[in-house]
Amino acid sequence: MIELRAGSATDVGKVRSKNQDRLVVADPLFAVADGMGGAAAGEVASQTAVSALEDVFSRIDTPTADDLLDAAQSANRAVWDQAEANPDYRGMGTTLVALALVDDGSLAIVNVGDSRLYAFHDGELRQVTDDHNLVAELVQQGRLSKEEAEFHPRRNIMTRALGVEPVVPVDLFLEPAEPGDRYLLCSDGLPREVADDQIGSVLRRLEDPAEAARELVDEAIRRGGNDNITVVVVDVVDGNGGSPAIAPGREDGTEPPAPVAPAGQPPEPRRRIRLPRFRAEKPPGPRPHSRILTFRVVAFMVALLVVLGLGAFGVGWYGRSGYFVGLKGSNLIVFKGRPGGVLWIKPTVADATGVTTDQVLPRHLPALQSGVEESSLGSAVKYVDSLVSEKSLADSAALPPSSPGTAGTTSPPTT
Ligand code: MG
Repeated sequence: MIELRAGSATDVGKVRSKNQDRLVVADPLFAVADGMGGAAAGEVASQTAVSALEDVFSRIDTPTADDLLDAAQSANRAVWDQAEANPDYRGMGTTLVALALVDDGSLAIVNVGDSRLYAFHDGELRQVTDDHNLVAELVQQGRLSKEEAEFHPRRNIMTRALGVEPVVPVDLFLEPAEPGDRYLLCSDGLPREVADDQIGSVLRRLEDPAEAARELVDEAIRRGGNDNITVVVVDVVDGNGGSPAIAPGREDGTEPPAPVAPAGQPPEPRRRIRLPRFRAEKPPGPRPHSRILTFRVVAFMVALLVVLGLGAFGVGWYGRSGYFVGLKGSNLIVFKGRPGGVLWIKPTVADATGVTTDQVLPRHLPALQSGVEESSLGSAVKYVDSLVSEKSLADSAALPPSSPGTAGTTSPPTT
């Protein structure tokens, strides 16, 4: 089971009169905020932000990365509301960088401002977050080198901070929670004085997170201490070893050192590790809505079958219900069904009639080829008889005078 062990340290530095940095060590949530603003406003901003963050986050049983984002947004709103309510606090703001172990076992990281989070993996230090300040953006745009940026006079001009607007864009990062990895959260007072390779050297040398945090703050003070300095070191450990996780706020280094991956071991592939305690709270078996889905699918299938069945019955009834007179070769046939058939239902012979096409006037043949529909077998037979009668009368009329008076057109009997 993955656990986090943390140590932290903070100091006002050698120049500032107040420490406007705040930190959170409340497993599984860790954060650093660096306030800005005149008089007491900077402290108010950073304190308000971390209090709101912790308050919102602590009320969630199984937090997700989105919950951490929401908590950061709530922290922003809390600082904004304070600034709106009190003219003395107008324009105040704060940075916020926070890390939390979330429900899928990964580490979620949110960031606004120029406090930083570093990952320390396999002895290598990597800055995870981006600084939201003018100089960093000029470096990103290629308009300034990293070396020029380190001593740039405008490097403290922030481009994004918590509490300055009612809604703030918050960066989110996800990292796998891998035993042996360390994460470092810090205010800008550390990287302004201590270079990355020196930070990495301290993290390599000191296994205890509280000792490492204290040493990093002391190093920043030795190198000038021009700003407040705050450091939180978070170690990812395999909790199956049996030693308890640190209590929130532990900073004195009295706990046994956190196990760190032994040097020289080949690096394992980076992966996400599931967190048993979160999974255990989920109900076993299929989720309730998947049962609803199954029921819905069954109900839908039944309804579909009923509709298809009714449709088939209707087609069958229609296809077999009528009669028509058509041709089979030169024979006139009364068929049961519909001309040409309906889907799979083909017409069947109802009466062979015994009449051939030479007993019918040629003008009827096209209709007979298509099929002449009748409402019943009887009417179909009558129709055939009428055709025969018509042809007979016509033939009689065409005969020489042996049958005078029968000339003229006689309509066939109607049905
Ligand atoms: Mg600062």
